Amino acid sequence: MTIRVTVWNEFRHEKTEESVKKHYPDGIHTVIADFLKKDSFDVKTATLDEPEHGLTEAVLAETDVLLWWGHMAHGEVDDAIVDRLQHQVLREGMGLLVLHSGHFSKIFKRLMGTTCDLKWREADEKERLWVVSPGHEIADGLGDFIEIPEAEMYGEHFDIPQPDELVLVSWFQGGEVFRSGCCFYRGMGKIFYFRPGHETYPIYHQSGIQKVITNGIRWAAPRNPVKMTFGNIPNMRD
Ligand code: ZN
Repeated sequence: MTIRVTVWNEFRHEKTEESVKKHYPDGIHTVIADFLKKDSFDVKTATLDEPEHGLTEAVLAETDVLLWWGHMAHGEVDDAIVDRLQHQVLREGMGLLVLHSGHFSKIFKRLMGTTCDLKWREADEKERLWVVSPGHEIADGLGDFIEIPEAEMYGEHFDIPQPDELVLVSWFQGGEVFRSGCCFYRGMGKIFYFRPGHETYPIYHQSGIQKVITNGIRWAAPRNPVKMTFGNIPNMRD
């Protein structure tokens, strides 16, 4: 079955900053959508400034996995839409991939229940993302590690709950480490946090990074979703 993906981007940096436009002239979401379309996914995009942030009930009803990139405008995301996303994950089993600075998005913090804070530094440092769960679906085809020539550093401590599965750990030239590929199960849904993707670097053009995202979508997609029963029920004696 074709996995239906919606790539969401706040789409603000790309409109005003030359250092971002040169890598993502039509937005980060367009670059991500383009490589996903070359795979077997059915892909839509949505952005913050569309009505309901492009995330209407109808769009979400046709979304198996939602990708989330946000940074400067987390506060502008309507709480009613966050409620809607949370419901989709917990009750409908929608998969959620949270990218890079999405660690501070309302929906990720809501689903984690922690501050999701971390250390950071912008110093063009080399990053190596080491595979620590080689048998995991998200690690398929990655080899030992992925190297990013220049990246923003994110460092521990990353204030998240212990991931249910940890797939990637980053090493940075400056000495820090970071849990960069984290899987969580919440209700009927699966969440994958993936660290790389600072807007001033061409990171989403890199094939290894694209591979993690495509693997992450396949992992997070709902399989045989079942409507769960809650509340008062009759007994089963007879
Ligand atoms: Zn960043």
